[in-house]
Amino acid sequence: MGRISLDTREFYRDTWAEVDLSSIEENIRSFRGLLPDRTEIMAVVKADGYGHGALPVAKTALEAGAAYLAVALLDEALSLRKQGIQAPILVLGRTRPEDAALAAENDISLTVFQADWVDEASVHLKGEKRVSLHLKIDTGMGRIGTREAEETKNLALKIEEVPQFCLEGVFTHFATADELESDLVDKQFERFARSLEWIRETGAAPLFIHCGNSAASLRFPDKVFNIARIGISMYGLAPSEEVKSVLPIPLKEAFSLHTRLVHVKKVQRGDTVSYGATYTAKEEEWIGTLPIGYADGWMRRYAEKGHALAGGRKVPFAGRICMDQCMVRLPHEMKVGDLVTLIGCQGDEKISIDDLAAQIGTINYEIPCLITSRVPRVYKK
Ligand SMILES: *Cc1c(COP(=O)(O)O)cnc(C)c1O
Repeated sequence: MGRISLDTREFYRDTWAEVDLSSIEENIRSFRGLLPDRTEIMAVVKADGYGHGALPVAKTALEAGAAYLAVALLDEALSLRKQGIQAPILVLGRTRPEDAALAAENDISLTVFQADWVDEASVHLKGEKRVSLHLKIDTGMGRIGTREAEETKNLALKIEEVPQFCLEGVFTHFATADELESDLVDKQFERFARSLEWIRETGAAPLFIHCGNSAASLRFPDKVFNIARIGISMYGLAPSEEVKSVLPIPLKEAFSLHTRLVHVKKVQRGDTVSYGATYTAKEEEWIGTLPIGYADGWMRRYAEKGHALAGGRKVPFAGRICMDQCMVRLPHEMKVGDLVTLIGCQGDEKISIDDLAAQIGTINYEIPCLITSRVPRVYKK
């Protein structure tokens, strides 16, 4: 028998990601304490819960007090429904109008920002079931959303005309809420307030008004209206290094990554390791082989200046990371089966997702998303 992760998939490999659900629970509770009572939490579990596993994260967030879930795609929402999630779910991206009926059947809320979409989708809606729509306003992100008064009012009126649609929400998204010095955030707040006036002028009274991602909700908890879309910080990560320096609540990282040595050997001075023979032993060295590679999302660039934790110490990678395996230089002889931590803590040493992101010049969001589905997720509570 292999080991069984919470999603009941058996696995037989010695590499796994551990997701501490109590950290996610604590992060949600911390947000609950930070936000005013009128502001609900929408837990963002797109991209398989930022690589943590959408279903366990969704369940944990809902138990801890989140009222709504958000995903990027209709497929992600349907997958949660199939797995028994009954809470409201909003699809943040554009859904094809012909798929509106599928959303209706499954009680999934959709994002809308084009008048044509309403016309086309209404043709496909024959049943009695209504679809809740959230109107997206582009106040400066420049991605999706209406921009002009006429365009926005027309869309709101059009939605109200179709009996199978209900305008449940209006929202926008910040481009620079994670930067402490940015005029654009103020401009976006102003434009959003003006857009809400346009909506009100049509007579519509949507239930949910939202604009706060993690960064905006951390920095302006009283200004994100009545539901906050919390993604990255629910997973215990700061939205940026700048916001990390002004965090109003503690955040607990939920994700760690572990593996076990599959081979240990002594190499001699001058021996080389891995593709390209780029690593040359300077003396007699102990080299350990790990069963994880770039096909698991353990990027080749992590080897350049990166470390793993073995025996409670930081150890450097030896040579290039292969598709399924990589090598580390051990401080001394170790045994096959010994634990090696790639993200997380061993003793007093820690390798964080932020460290890895800085090392390869990207943002923390990318790191757990990149760990592929070949790496089983094990849940701890
Ligand atoms: C992903 C996403 C969020 C969550 O953002 P975080 O920075 O992870 O909190 C919120 N709103 C929209 C529209 C998104 O696409």
